[in-house]
Amino acid sequence: MDMIDPFGRTISYLRVSVTDRCDFRCTYCMAEDMAFLPKKDLLSLEELDRLCTVFIEKGVRKLRLTGGEPLVRKNIMHLVRQISRHLESGALEELTLTTNGSQLSRFAAELADCGVKRINVSLDTLDPEKFRQITRWGNLDKVMDGIDTAQAAGLKVKLNAVALKDFNDAELPEMLRWAHGRGMELTVIETMPMGEIDADRTDQYLPLSLLRAALERQFTLTDIPYKTGGPARYVHVAETAGRLGFITPMTHNFCESCNRVRLTCTGTLYMCLGQEDASDLRAPLRASEGNELVADAIDEAIGRKPKGHDFIIDRRTNRPSVSRHMSVTGG
Ligand code: SAM
Repeated sequence: MDMIDPFGRTISYLRVSVTDRCDFRCTYCMAEDMAFLPKKDLLSLEELDRLCTVFIEKGVRKLRLTGGEPLVRKNIMHLVRQISRHLESGALEELTLTTNGSQLSRFAAELADCGVKRINVSLDTLDPEKFRQITRWGNLDKVMDGIDTAQAAGLKVKLNAVALKDFNDAELPEMLRWAHGRGMELTVIETMPMGEIDADRTDQYLPLSLLRAALERQFTLTDIPYKTGGPARYVHVAETAGRLGFITPMTHNFCESCNRVRLTCTGTLYMCLGQEDASDLRAPLRASEGNELVADAIDEAIGRKPKGHDFIIDRRTNRPSVSRHMSVTGG
């Protein structure tokens, strides 16, 4: 039986945050001094695999590992290998991940060997100094090596950049040329008001309608119906012959076509990235060796999936729409 929510949307896409920890501290994502979950609260890799398997049995066709930084979770490749059996059986159509790229040199070949075909790498600037500034702890060279290794291993790489006012807006044309020149798609994302950070989000927020207008002074952008199962809307860029995606949770939400739910590393299921409501799957998972209890809990949670989020960024509101950081539920 497919999972269908109260608004008739079929849930076929699961994002799994395998850790809330990250080796970067991107300024729009986290505060510098973050308190992370105690290790004892985490589901084991076996438990995560069991939960993913129940979701796949219930109709999930696309699964994305995220975080925190998924590749810093200890033994993460064990989980990837385990889940890849569902690719082999045909039950799962796609296994992918979102990463900051810092560990890709080490893991790209094995990811490809596990049947991962494409990955998203988050990259907000090509300038080493600005990269250090935005990630606080990151090293651009390492990420570049990771991207090289991933492409050499045959992985399709899509870059995701959060559009940040007066930080990378002027650089995005260059990033677009660079990405398309290397056969990578680029998707730009509006910053979302999730969790307390050390900065004022109003200063960072750039509506993508403005960015698009600025890009159109240099590039010919044509809307195309291309879809990857995620929330991006795409244009074709004539000058670079590549695709550019726009993810606009603030200016144009895409909730009516939402096919996703999000599982955290503690077994909490969020039915919407932008709402606080959640369902605990850890207790029913641990309460029995069979999967009936957890399958029932998933059905109950899907029955509560809200119509959409209501993110607001403005000076008057000036507080997060949801208290948790993006690193809890992942991108
Ligand atoms: N560590 C991995 C990475 O860097 O891709 C996966 C997790 S990270 C939280 C996923 C994505 O969320 C990244 O592309 C990041 O830039 C984005 N992100 C983080 N906080 C955000 C926010 N407040 N608004 C929009 N995107 C955000």
